[in-house]
Amino acid sequence: MSILPPPPHPLLPLPSDQDASGRTLGEAEMVALAEVIASGTLTSTRGEFVKRLEKGFAERLGIAHAHAASSGTAAIHTALAALDLEPGDEVITTGITDMGALTPILYQGGIPVFADVDPRTFNVTAQTIAPHLSERTRAIIVTHLFGNPCPMDEILALARKQQVPVIEDCAQAFLARHQGRLVGTLGTLGCFSLQQGKHITTGEGGLVVTEDPALARRCFLFINKAWGYGDPHPDHYFLALNYRMSELQGAVAVAQLSKLQFAVERRRETAAWLTEALQSIPGIETPHVEAGDTHVFWKYCLRVDPNLVPGGAQGLGKRLKERGIASAPRYIQKPAFQCEIFQKQRTFGTSRYPFTLARPEALDYDPARFPGTFAALARILVLPWNEQYTREHVTYLANAIHETVQP
Ligand SMILES: *Cc1c(COP(=O)(O)O)cnc(C)c1O
Repeated sequence: MSILPPPPHPLLPLPSDQDASGRTLGEAEMVALAEVIASGTLTSTRGEFVKRLEKGFAERLGIAHAHAASSGTAAIHTALAALDLEPGDEVITTGITDMGALTPILYQGGIPVFADVDPRTFNVTAQTIAPHLSERTRAIIVTHLFGNPCPMDEILALARKQQVPVIEDCAQAFLARHQGRLVGTLGTLGCFSLQQGKHITTGEGGLVVTEDPALARRCFLFINKAWGYGDPHPDHYFLALNYRMSELQGAVAVAQLSKLQFAVERRRETAAWLTEALQSIPGIETPHVEAGDTHVFWKYCLRVDPNLVPGGAQGLGKRLKERGIASAPRYIQKPAFQCEIFQKQRTFGTSRYPFTLARPEALDYDPARFPGTFAALARILVLPWNEQYTREHVTYLANAIHETVQP
């Protein structure tokens, strides 16, 4: 019989956003849900909770219109549908994002055109977007990755000059601010996700916001099979889906919305502790936030220099795993444009539509065109983060990083 040595380090389990330990779900959600079930009205076409969510979220952002949807992906799809692309129109986006921000472009007949990112922030910039603008550009989607705002002033100036609408993907960036102003309210449309692992959650869910009443109307219609609810002579006006959020989700969302400020403040506070604790470790860079911007820490993303840290991000991730810390080196394993959907153009049957409509340059995924994207992914180490971290968790994380980087 072998006797195992005691583990070298006592493990501290971190709260997880995949279960109650890392979420703010509780009594308020239960009460609201019970009310919906007792009412027997589970659809938002009749109930009040989704309407309350939409009103409350719009007020929270200080924007005229918010519409709830069944997911963040549905919210992005809705925003694109509101812009009414022509087949083959180009949408400039980023290779470091969730696939749910990309496939809606193809479903609307658009061509995703990938811009490079700033390797320090992992975000697109006006400089990386500019070379991809063409006469066929119909929209720009910016992703505020990990909760860190994109440099919106310059991006919006460029977009205005070209008269191209900007969709802000704020799935990871609730209440983040660029130069004091809330992201999601800066572009033409803003999209949010309520998926399990976001700042607030209904399991699945999304929201799209805009100041523009005509676009808001198209968002509402697209979510509702383009049926003109409330019109004197309603009809199905155009091609659209049922992307409605149910009242069950709406009830949970209304309760979650009241906790959003707490979740964001708490994440920012604990992330600041980690940033402080990780200063002056050679080869470890803490998040780069533009002066005047507010990062809301969907995740806490380090940059690891493989010349100074043995094994780079991968090596550090492996050593953290031995201490029970589930980090994600590279975040996504490869840029989106290296996934099969883009490499093999697998879309509708064997048609390859809408790729068949694209300019060849729009489909040029040569890695040499994306130095920032590849440099970023090579160094990214994503630490899980949520609003239930305490000083003890942050200290445990900081010590684990210190000890495994400088043994
Ligand atoms: C989560 C996420 C989405 C998609 O949201 P779902 O609710 O999962 O469909 C889109 N974009 C980004 C940046 C995300 O993080």
